[in-house]
Amino acid sequence: MYDKNKYEPIIGLEVHVELKTKTKMFCGCSANYYNEEPNKLTCPTCLGLPGALPVINKQAIQWCVLIGVALGCKIPLESKFDRKNYFYPDLPKGYQISQYDSPFAVDGEVVVEEEGKKKTIGIERVHQEEDTGKLIHSVVDGEKCTLIDFNRSGVPLVEIVTRPDLRSSKDAKIYLQNLQKIIRYLGVSDCDMEKGSMRLEPNISVRKLGTTSLPDYKVEVKNINSFKFVEKAIEYEIERQIDLLEKGERIPQETRGYDSTKNATFTQRSKENAQDYRYFPEPDLPPVSWTKDEIVEIKKLLPELPSIKTERFIKDYKLTPYDSLLLTEEKETADWFEEALQAFSQTTFPGIKEKSAIKIEKSAYAKPLANWMNGELKKYMNQHDISLEDLSITPAHLSELLYLLDVGTISGTNAKLIFSEMLSTGATPSSIITQKNLSQTNNENEIEEAVKKILDANPKAVQDYKAGKTQVLGFLLGLVMRETGGKANAAKVKQIIERLV
Ligand code: ZN
Ligand code: MN
Repeated sequence: MYDKNKYEPIIGLEVHVELKTKTKMFCGCSANYYNEEPNKLTCPTCLGLPGALPVINKQAIQWCVLIGVALGCKIPLESKFDRKNYFYPDLPKGYQISQYDSPFAVDGEVVVEEEGKKKTIGIERVHQEEDTGKLIHSVVDGEKCTLIDFNRSGVPLVEIVTRPDLRSSKDAKIYLQNLQKIIRYLGVSDCDMEKGSMRLEPNISVRKLGTTSLPDYKVEVKNINSFKFVEKAIEYEIERQIDLLEKGERIPQETRGYDSTKNATFTQRSKENAQDYRYFPEPDLPPVSWTKDEIVEIKKLLPELPSIKTERFIKDYKLTPYDSLLLTEEKETADWFEEALQAFSQTTFPGIKEKSAIKIEKSAYAKPLANWMNGELKKYMNQHDISLEDLSITPAHLSELLYLLDVGTISGTNAKLIFSEMLSTGATPSSIITQKNLSQTNNENEIEEAVKKILDANPKAVQDYKAGKTQVLGFLLGLVMRETGGKANAAKVKQIIERLV
C-alpha cells in the first residue's frame, strides 16, 4: 500500500453552459431545442452548408461578457472569433467557431467557502463558442446506427476555464455549486445538467507533495453531467494516477470518458494539443470591439450576487446563516421572500383593505416568514413538483396570514389549515377565515364551557394533574383545542384549565 499523502492532486475545470437566448449563435434559428422534433430548428448556416455565412448574436456575446464580469474578470475591449478545426460527425462545418487567443473575459476569480475557510479559485478565461449537433446511437431495422440531430448545432455556448487551483474532488464540487448559482442568478442559462445545458470537464494530474511546478501532463475527463459524477471521476483518476506513478510509469496526456455504472474512467483518445486544432481567425466574422460605455452598460445588468445576498439577509433580517443560505439558493426565492417582507410595510394586504397603521419592523417578521417558506411552502412545492411562479398565491398572501396569526385573529393550529387552503384555491386568508368561520375565539365563556366538558370527561387526567403530573396539561389542552375546532386561543385555554382543575 502506498502513502497517498505523498501526492497532491492538481485539478482544473472546464465548464460549458448553453445560453438561453431566443436564437442561435450565428443564425436566426430558435435556440430552444428542448423536446423539439429532430432537425426542425435548422438552416444552411447551422447545417454548415457551403456558402452560408454566420452573423453574431449580440445578446449572446453580451451575456458571455456578463458572466465574465460576474466572475470578476477583466474584459478586453478587442476580441475575435477563431476556427477550431476538427473532424467529427456532429460538427457539419468541420470546425467549431470558438475563441482562441482573445476570449471575451480573462483573469477572474471565484471565492468559495469550505468548512468556514475561504478559498480563491482563479478563472483563466470565459469565451464564446457554438454547440455541436447531437449524436444519437440507436438501432434502426435491426441494425446499429448513429442518428444526428442538428437542432443543437449552433446554440450559444460559453466555456468557463479555471486555473489549476483545485486540490480535491470536494473543492471541485463546491466551486461548481457556486458557479451554477451565480450563472442562474444572471438569468442567462438554466445550467440544467439533466437537459445538458451545463456540462463539466475536470482535468486532473498529481504531483509529489512539496513540488511546486505543474505536472507535465494532464488527463481530461469529458462531458460529465452531474456534480456527483465529477467528484467520483476525480477520485478515480487520483487513485489511478498515483498507482501508475508508484509503479514508476509515466502518465500519458489523454482525454478519458467516465462510465458511471462502472465508476471508472476509460481512454477515449490521446489528448490533442492546441496545434492539432489548427486554430486561425474566423474569416467570415469581423473582430468584436467594445466601447468602455458598452461595458459599463453590461455591468449595470449585474444583479446582487448570491454570496453578497446571503450575507445581507443575515445582517439586515437577523436570519441564521442556515435560513439565509436556503432563501438565497435561487434568486426567485430570495425575491419572493423580500416581496413578502415588503407587504408588511404597506397599508393593505390582499384580503385586508385597511390594516391598522402600526409601524411594523420588517425584520420582526423575517424569522417566521423564513420558517414558513423553508417549511410548509417548500413542502407543498416539493409534493406538487412546482416552482414559486406556479403558485396561486402571491408573497403578500403569506404575509397576510402571518399578520393574522401574529395579531391573534387565528390560532397556530388553524394557520396551517388555512395556508393549505390558500395554496389550493388562491384565496386570501381573510376570506377563508370568514368562509370557514375559523376566527380564533377569545371569548372566555365559550372556552370555559369547552374546558369544563373536557375535564368532566377525563377524571383520570385531572387526578394525575392534581397529583403533580403537570405534563398532562398538554394532553388536556390538545383535547380542548380539538373540541373548539382549533379556534380557541391556546394561551387562554391553558389559563382556564389551570384555574378550573
Ligand atoms: Zn440555423
Ligand atoms: Mn469548448
